[in-house]
Amino acid sequence: MSKFDLRKAHFSTLCVHGSGGVDPQTGALSVPIYQSSTFAFKSAKHGAQLFQGEGEGYVYTRLGNPTQAAFEREMAFLEGGEAALAFSSGMAAISGVILALCQCGDNLVSSDTVYGGTHNLYKESLPNWGIEAREVDATVPENIEKAIDDKTRLIFIETPANPTLDIIDIQKIAEIAHAHNLPLVVDNTFATPYLQQPLKLGADIVVHSATKYIGGHGDTIAGVVIGESEFIDELRAKILRDIGGVISPLNAWLLLRGLKTLPVRMDRHCSNAMEIAKFLTFHPKVNWVRYPGLTTHPHHELARKQMRNFGGIVTFEVKGGRKAGEKVMDNVTLITLAVSLGDCDSLIEHPASMTHSTYSTEELAKVGITEGLIRLSVGLEDPQDLIEDLKQALSKI
Ligand SMILES: *Cc1c(COP(=O)(O)O)cnc(C)c1O
Repeated sequence: MSKFDLRKAHFSTLCVHGSGGVDPQTGALSVPIYQSSTFAFKSAKHGAQLFQGEGEGYVYTRLGNPTQAAFEREMAFLEGGEAALAFSSGMAAISGVILALCQCGDNLVSSDTVYGGTHNLYKESLPNWGIEAREVDATVPENIEKAIDDKTRLIFIETPANPTLDIIDIQKIAEIAHAHNLPLVVDNTFATPYLQQPLKLGADIVVHSATKYIGGHGDTIAGVVIGESEFIDELRAKILRDIGGVISPLNAWLLLRGLKTLPVRMDRHCSNAMEIAKFLTFHPKVNWVRYPGLTTHPHHELARKQMRNFGGIVTFEVKGGRKAGEKVMDNVTLITLAVSLGDCDSLIEHPASMTHSTYSTEELAKVGITEGLIRLSVGLEDPQDLIEDLKQALSKI
C-alpha cells in the first residue's frame, strides 16, 4: 500500500497522522505507553555503544523512552523544528533551556510580562546561581537591544503574554537577537503551534507548558522544548541527564492524544473567547476587556500578522476593582475558580493574588497587571452557557 506524503499535509492532518501511524508489529493505531524504566541490550557491545551515543536503541527512561520520543517527533514536526525534548513540566523546560545556555556570571534579557513561575525563577533562583535576568517591556523591541551586553546569552519572550495578553513582535526581536549572535527563545504556550509558529518567524528555540493546550484536558503536567538537533542533543545530554526532569511515558502518551484534537479544540477556544470578549465589551459593569482579537487591543494588527487566530484567554476588569472582581469569581456556577488554562473546562482566576503573586506590587503596576484584572481561560462549553453564567455572576456586583 502506498502512503500519503505527509510533507504535503496540512496542519490538522499532521496532528492526527504525524506521529508515525500504525505500529507494524501489532497494528496498534495509538502509540503504546512504554511503561518501562530500563531496556535490554542485544549484547554487551550494543550496551557500550548506546552509552557512547552510537547505534539504535534505548537505555533508561530518564535518557529517553519510545513514547516520549513519539511525542518529541510530533512536536518538532508541528513547530517546524529539527528536534524536540520533553520535560516533566513547563518550568523544567524553561529552566533547562536557561541552564543549558547560561553559566555563573551570565545574563539573559526577557520580556517583563511572563508566567509567574518564570518571573520567580528570574527573581529568586537564577540569582542564587549567579545568573541575572533583565526584564524589559518588549512591546518596544529597542528595550531588548538596550539591555544586551557581552555577558548576555539569550533573549526570552512570551507572546501572547500572561496575563496582559501583550503581543510581542517575534520577527523584530529575532532580528535584534541575531544581530548580537544570540538565540531567541519563545514561550509559545498561549498560542500553540496551530496559532503561531515562532521558528518560522526567526526564533531559535520554542518552549511550552504542555500542561495547557497541548494536553488540553487538564490532566497532565509537562513541558517541551523545540530547536535545532545540536541544541536538543546537548539539552538531553546535560540537563535531562544531570537534573532529571524527565516526562513519564503515560504523560507523553496523554500529550500525543491531546495533539490529535489540537486544531479542533483551538478553533473552538478561539471562537468562544471572541464571543465572550464581545459580550464583556458591551456589559455596563465591565471597565475594560483585553483580547487580541478585538480591534480595541493595542497590538491587534501585530496579532493578525503573526498569529492564525487570537487564542482562548480573555482578561477584563469590572467596575469596583478587586472587591467587585471577587464577587464575580465567587458567584460563577459553571466556570471554575482555579488557576491553569487551556482545559476543556473554563477557568477563572485573579492573577495579582494567585498566578502572579510572585510579582511585587510595584512590578504588577509596571507591567499592567491591575488589582482588578481577572483572567478567564475560555473552555469548550457552549458559549451561550458561559455568557449566561457570567451574566448572572456580574449581576451580583
Ligand atoms: C503554565 C505556564 C508555564 C509553566 O508550566 P508548568 O507546566 O506549570 O510548569 C510556563 N509558561 C506559561 C506561559 C504558562 O502558562
